[in-house]
Amino acid sequence: MDRVLVTGGAGFIGSHLCERLISEGHRVYCWDNLSTGSERNLAAVLSSPRFELVRHDIIEPRDIAVDRIYNLACPASPDQYQKDPIHTLMTSTVGVMNMLDIAERYGATLLQASTSEVYGDPLMHPQREDYWGHVNPIGPRACYDESKRLAETLLVAHERQRGAKVRIARIFNTYGPHMSADDGRVVSNFIVQALRGEDIVIYGDGQQTRSFCYVNDMVDGLVRLMRSDLRGPVNLGNPVETSIMELAQRVNALTGGRSAMVHRPLPIDDPCRRNPDITLARQRLGWEPKVSLDEGLEATISYFREMVEG
Ligand code: UDP
Repeated sequence: MDRVLVTGGAGFIGSHLCERLISEGHRVYCWDNLSTGSERNLAAVLSSPRFELVRHDIIEPRDIAVDRIYNLACPASPDQYQKDPIHTLMTSTVGVMNMLDIAERYGATLLQASTSEVYGDPLMHPQREDYWGHVNPIGPRACYDESKRLAETLLVAHERQRGAKVRIARIFNTYGPHMSADDGRVVSNFIVQALRGEDIVIYGDGQQTRSFCYVNDMVDGLVRLMRSDLRGPVNLGNPVETSIMELAQRVNALTGGRSAMVHRPLPIDDPCRRNPDITLARQRLGWEPKVSLDEGLEATISYFREMVEG
């Protein structure tokens, strides 16, 4: 049994990770400032004697003796992380330094949730881990992109200089139950609009692409990475590239096809294409996504249906 700290554990991916770790018999300490996460996401684990939730913001120092740390604390939806850009920057810099302090004090392994946003609006397709990215350092997404990049730099520096045990997951677009209905991300927006019979709002012409990974696949990748000896960054995401227009059509079809499609202007610096090369994860972690987009969308639609209609 490991003692595991999951920061951001009440969030979308974090809550699924807590469930998985509890089901494997570990002791799980969840720290979350509940800015975008919620206790409701933790309904399946809150009553476990091996689970503890503390309302805590990782930009404040706090100590705990653990064996492993998954640092998932940070708003991840563009709408959310741009609401308080300075706090977003602090979370993935000062917050990460606080996590490194704990990791070094107790010899714990720290897995940092990095992001496909480190590639910015990429000029290389698909994106491989050795691509340095194409990021606007002063654009509206910079508070997230640049602090996540610096987080990687901090981990690697602590590993080289002090032997810290670190893992870096570059997480691509992920979806599934426990996304919040109003966080502004494309999958949740489209599903909620379609279930309400409202127009599906596509930003730009909808030809921009993303690659959507179901949350259970993502959690499996994170757990495998934590247990591996892979120290450099690893892409975790679904390699099937889908245009936003195609996503809208599939969501509409799976929910009964009542919505019309309308267009709004594309946000500034919205990446045109995003698609992970997951060769490294396949070879070194034996990992690849198993859930198809239709299967994953159906499960996510059932989750939101209860929320919208219940
Ligand atoms: N998008 C959209 N309608 C929405 C929300 C997002 O067309 O209601 C588009 C957005 O412009 C982007 C893609 O969907 O091209 C994915 O956006 P999201 O906010 O989910 O995450 P991102 O991958 O941009 O970080």
